[in-house]
Amino acid sequence: MSMIKGIKGVKDLLPEETPRWRLIEEIARRWAGRYGFHEIRIPIFEVTTLFARSIGASTDIVEKEMYTFQDRDGTSLTLRPEGTAGTVRAYIEHNRASIPVPQKYFYFGPMFRHERPQAGRLRQFHQFGVESLGMADPQADVEVIALLWRILSNLDLPGLTLEINNLGYIADRDTYRPHLVSYLMQYESDLCANCRHRIETNPLRVLDCKVPECRTITGTAPRLSDSLSETARSYFTRVLSGLDLVKIPYSLNHRLVRGLDYYNLTTFEVTAINLGAQNAVGAGGRYDGLVETLGGPPTPAVGFAIGLERMSMLLPTDVVKKATDDVTIYVAGFGAYGAVTGLTALEELRLAGLQAVSDFRSVTLKAHLRQADRLGCRFTLIIGDDEVVKGSGILRDMETKVQHDVSLSIIGIQIPSLLTGS
Ligand code: ATP
Ligand code: MG
Repeated sequence: MSMIKGIKGVKDLLPEETPRWRLIEEIARRWAGRYGFHEIRIPIFEVTTLFARSIGASTDIVEKEMYTFQDRDGTSLTLRPEGTAGTVRAYIEHNRASIPVPQKYFYFGPMFRHERPQAGRLRQFHQFGVESLGMADPQADVEVIALLWRILSNLDLPGLTLEINNLGYIADRDTYRPHLVSYLMQYESDLCANCRHRIETNPLRVLDCKVPECRTITGTAPRLSDSLSETARSYFTRVLSGLDLVKIPYSLNHRLVRGLDYYNLTTFEVTAINLGAQNAVGAGGRYDGLVETLGGPPTPAVGFAIGLERMSMLLPTDVVKKATDDVTIYVAGFGAYGAVTGLTALEELRLAGLQAVSDFRSVTLKAHLRQADRLGCRFTLIIGDDEVVKGSGILRDMETKVQHDVSLSIIGIQIPSLLTGS
């Protein structure tokens, strides 16, 4: 029979890879807790309108990347391409605005976008994200950015750079747009096809285009920062001085934009080296207009999302090794009595809180020791028929070859204390 394969751009994570992922998740979770964020779990699919309205019709995601399908009753549903829309929907639906404390959420999970698969770009990928709802204060921006920075730094990802920009308010961008458009019109024929189209639909997004020709043109384009109101400027200045205070390094990037009206003020992105074309690890910003756009009460908000695949690609191997270097004891039970005592010993070690394994197919000591090495076990507990008769097994350090006698009646006490002593 022919083999059935997984879907293009949808990856399996085999046991060799999951420790890296677990480490990333644990560190993200730990820092989110320290910053007072609480976990929210939202559905993987929602009605299509939620994403169309929140992400915006003229974005790559909504224009061409969504997995949309019809439910049996004809309703259009979409596999979530990101986590903010669902989080905000839940916030509104459960009337969380009425709770008199800031609502700070984090989430993990798979996201779905129909893109061209390549390293660091998948069709099912995973994000960790946070949303801080309710606070229109530069300190809330600083808090979210600091959390992002702490997580990525704690993972020792190489060459991290935090880029930041000020998008101002809608009115500021309305002032700016005609300057940008008339500049871009002069170079229209040199822009990529997408950007020629964007001049009309969403000119700010031309600034974000990665095509080299477009980048050259936008390098000398009028800057949004020159059209910003005093209020927007002073807000951003306070964000930057907050980052200085808590010692988060950043670099200003005047071309960093988001093309949608409900984004305002602070916008940021973290890049790393070694990611090739996909150099963004995570991105975020302030989105004070979104909750209202989705039918909720006016609610200022700021958040970010980071890609777990890209973090996993960057994570240094020694960081993973150090964090997952748990001692496992191999139990070599052989012979008619040894095999039986081996089984109870395994169970006692596990009940004592240790990791213990065996290969039940091995019938000789030599075969057991070979499997212990292959499984990377630091210790082997040897229990042959002789040991059963004596009532004492042999704990062998597989690296130093040093051996200790251990009393089989109290291994659950003796072995843990030997290990902490070693
Ligand atoms: P890009 O410019 O790489 O397409 P984006 O602007 O579409 O990124 P966001 O929507 O801001 O990305 O998502 C935040 C993060 O999620 C990205 O920085 C990246 O790490 C990750 N991400 C986004 N799309 C994918 C994908 N298709 N595969 C893997 N990770 C992704
Ligand atoms: Mg994208």
